[in-house]
Amino acid sequence: MTQITSTPNLSERIQNLSESATIAMAQKARELKSKGHDVINLSLGEPDFQTPQHIKDAAKAALDEGYTFYTPVPGYPELREVIATKLQRDNHLKWEAENIVVSTGAKQSLANIFFSLLDKGDEVIVLGPYWVTYKEIVKLADGVPVILNGTLENDFKVKPEQIQAAITPKTKAILYSSPSNPTGAVFSKEELRSIADVVLPHEQIMVVADEIYEYIVFEEGYFSMGAFEDMADRVITVNGFSKGFAMTGWRLGYMAAPKWLASACAKIQGQVTSGTCSITQRAAITAISSDLTPTYEMTKAYLRRRDLVWEGLNSIEGFRTPLPKGAFYLFPDISSFFGKSTEDGKWYIQNADDFTMFLLNEAHVSLVTGSAFGAPNNVRMSYAASDDSLKEAIHRIKEKVKNLK
Ligand code: PLP
Repeated sequence: MTQITSTPNLSERIQNLSESATIAMAQKARELKSKGHDVINLSLGEPDFQTPQHIKDAAKAALDEGYTFYTPVPGYPELREVIATKLQRDNHLKWEAENIVVSTGAKQSLANIFFSLLDKGDEVIVLGPYWVTYKEIVKLADGVPVILNGTLENDFKVKPEQIQAAITPKTKAILYSSPSNPTGAVFSKEELRSIADVVLPHEQIMVVADEIYEYIVFEEGYFSMGAFEDMADRVITVNGFSKGFAMTGWRLGYMAAPKWLASACAKIQGQVTSGTCSITQRAAITAISSDLTPTYEMTKAYLRRRDLVWEGLNSIEGFRTPLPKGAFYLFPDISSFFGKSTEDGKWYIQNADDFTMFLLNEAHVSLVTGSAFGAPNNVRMSYAASDDSLKEAIHRIKEKVKNLK
């Protein structure tokens, strides 16, 4: 990954920060496209659907109604109220509006949380393979990310024993996403209980549960760890509108936490961004309190595409791909291609970075290297794309990897 070259004027903090690999890969795909190549971009974590019409209409109405002023730092009270109702309705979390802080995205909520919780050298156990941003946000907040990895055999889920062994007096938090970006794994209620049992005796440890893909699950029984009564004050739930409502560009996320932490996060936000966009917030009230049929329709489409790409990839020799239970990513192990090359000697695949560059340049399909997510044997493929593009991508990959010997 690109590091900013050392200059005397830049802080050590920024020089140690990695650029987002997913954004960098999408940029490379765009460059190739601008040169006239027909690139299928499966590297970004973004729904390909438009925001549902009733949400757009609510935004238009907000403008006409004059919502053009600064907003309260933690969000409009009406929005925080409907979020609290949603958390009760969908997740059995008993938070009030005062526990909710609305932000410009789940990303900002995570930043607020770690800037509020961490002192220099405090450790955060990150359950990997992890979303690229987790490690960097913890580092920005002067914390130390302690990465644990689940194995492919265990659907990429970290086991409670691994967490137990990683806890030190410096551990301040445990961070995970379920459904997971990049693996699509979803923790069951039983698995979350076992993790909770490990955390519970350590009073200094908070759990940060990123539930942004909550509505994109393909099996019944989604569970939020904060719904365990004994964990209610120990779990910070992070969520947002980007994925479930196809609202990535609107910038709206939120967190639900005990009052002491919610107030701290609002304090930071008040000095950095203030309250997020007024129009977005009014639209979000409509999104979250309306019938969720459009959201579930999108999930149905993701499920169909998951099956399509999963079967497609499994028909290619060399890919080992567990079946994801949520989100919109496949995370195949492609290590069987390491050490192989093309006959013309142009490509020699030593690692997942080489493999993604090979596919981008030869097949014009853009994926993201697993090394960005702490899993160097894998690549991430987003299937938030049309069925036709996905079929074409599979076809191209199949044709090109045949040449690796
Ligand atoms: N959390 C996870 C696991 C994600 O994959 C993403 C986006 O890719 C986010 C958070 C960021 O969401 P937002 O758009 O609300 O900042």
